[in-house]
Amino acid sequence: MMPQRFWHTVLDACFPARCVSCGQQTQNDAWCRACDAVLPRIGESCIRCATPLPPSAGTVCGACLNHPPPFDATLAACRYTFPLDRLLQDFKYGHRLALAAPLAQLVIDACRPALNGLSPAFQEPPTHVLAMPLSAARQIERGFNQAQELARPVAAALKLPLLTDALVRIKDSPKQATLPWRDRHKNVRSAFACRRDLSGYRLLLIDDVMTSGATAAAAAKALRAAGATTVFVGVVARASMMQETGVP
Ligand SMILES: [Zn+2]
Ligand SMILES: [Zn+2]
Repeated sequence: MMPQRFWHTVLDACFPARCVSCGQQTQNDAWCRACDAVLPRIGESCIRCATPLPPSAGTVCGACLNHPPPFDATLAACRYTFPLDRLLQDFKYGHRLALAAPLAQLVIDACRPALNGLSPAFQEPPTHVLAMPLSAARQIERGFNQAQELARPVAAALKLPLLTDALVRIKDSPKQATLPWRDRHKNVRSAFACRRDLSGYRLLLIDDVMTSGATAAAAAKALRAAGATTVFVGVVARASMMQETGVP
């Protein structure tokens, strides 16, 4: 166990649960009700890429109309602002694995209307869930794949099978956040490969954050090349174009 993770486990065991956002004592081990009520949930947004849209601007943003992404829809729970940015960084880089369940719950809540057929874009809901993979080297370096930790409870709650070996990341490309915006699509091109026939599968691909959408687009292309008919992307948070998130 990594030292940081060890100390979080010890601290979590010794002290009553406190809200990670405001520090008040709370019922669960993540955030309190008051902080939950003010989480920066996504309002009107593009159905394809989850970019926030002004009210009555339509359902698809200009960028997606001009260049439709290879994924069909993005289901994002929140905007990547405080306290979600801090929570996700604690989860991913601080190894706060106890945050996986409440963060996954945000994704589950964002996916439910789609699964219940409430939106015309989701006439045919997903049949399988999978996580955005890390390269083998990065997974060893980090010790876990944050997307996999989110995808597991999402699949369980939605009662859908979780594919754990279908998509692999074959290219350990430079970290997206270190690259200029325009180079990000080039950076992840051919980064993914599919190991199985996905003919007829409708997939829900889970990741923690979407920023440029370049990684999701590259993964969706590989999944489609393997036969997937639909690729939905489910994320905890959607960052704006101007933000640097440390993630692609
Ligand atoms: Zn709180
Ligand atoms: Zn869009």
